[in-house]
Amino acid sequence: MKLAYNVATTKENATLEQDLEFCEKHGFDYVEIQMWKLPAYLEKHTLDDLAEFFRTNHLKLLSLNALEFFNNRSKEDEEQIIQTFKEWLEIGKKLGAQYIVAVPNITEEKFLHKDIKDSCVELLREFSDLARPYGIKVAFEFIGHPQATVNTFKQGYEIVQEVNRDNVGLVLDCFHFHGMGSRLVDLKQADGSKIFLLHIDDADDYPIGIVRDEDRCWPGHGVIDLDGIFSTLKEIGFHGEVCSIELFRPEYYKMNPEEVIKSSKETMVDVISKHYEIEEPINQ
Ligand code: ZN
Repeated sequence: MKLAYNVATTKENATLEQDLEFCEKHGFDYVEIQMWKLPAYLEKHTLDDLAEFFRTNHLKLLSLNALEFFNNRSKEDEEQIIQTFKEWLEIGKKLGAQYIVAVPNITEEKFLHKDIKDSCVELLREFSDLARPYGIKVAFEFIGHPQATVNTFKQGYEIVQEVNRDNVGLVLDCFHFHGMGSRLVDLKQADGSKIFLLHIDDADDYPIGIVRDEDRCWPGHGVIDLDGIFSTLKEIGFHGEVCSIELFRPEYYKMNPEEVIKSSKETMVDVISKHYEIEEPINQ
């Protein structure tokens, strides 16, 4: 399994330049870029500079994160979201991205399951059509939050099954899996090839539905049943090509960013290596 770093983990304490430098230095294979880090980078560089970085270093771009809140929106909002998606496809093509991550609507408004599913399927199929000529895949990430319209593995998986396209799959974020009490029995019944991306993290011991992104912590330091998730992923034939660490913990934003990136790698390796073989970059 190869190792990826999601730059959210150093949201407030590293620029994209620093993330890239330290990830390369500490032997990550891939990076997931949160698009809100890009404008600051582009004040001093161009997209061509970034493409050149990925061409000339070991580190490659895994995904662009995250196209937000796309389902059950007004027509105008939907058009804007599709426009953003098109722009990201161009950026992704230039940078060699493999995936664009899309996340469901989070809202206090109540929608019935059927209406959520219909809207998600329609939009994800449209993304699929748009992304196909670019060779970029769409990774749909359910969010383990009570007000997320798609908030369990089972619900997300059913949507991806219904979409039924080879370039649309799921992101399994262990935090989101835990956050609304997704069940291993549902994961066990899934086809592992429909899971495109795996986000690793852990969480403080708050009740289901209460735990939030800021409670994410180093893999192995919290209460998420990571061994249960990883061993089930193996059983269902998850390809195990890459796993990405993604934390949003304010405490870690106060640390030296290089230390965060080093600790990220060490803690994720401790958990993953019990289940998957980790390929170290040759220059390590
Ligand atoms: Zn995630």
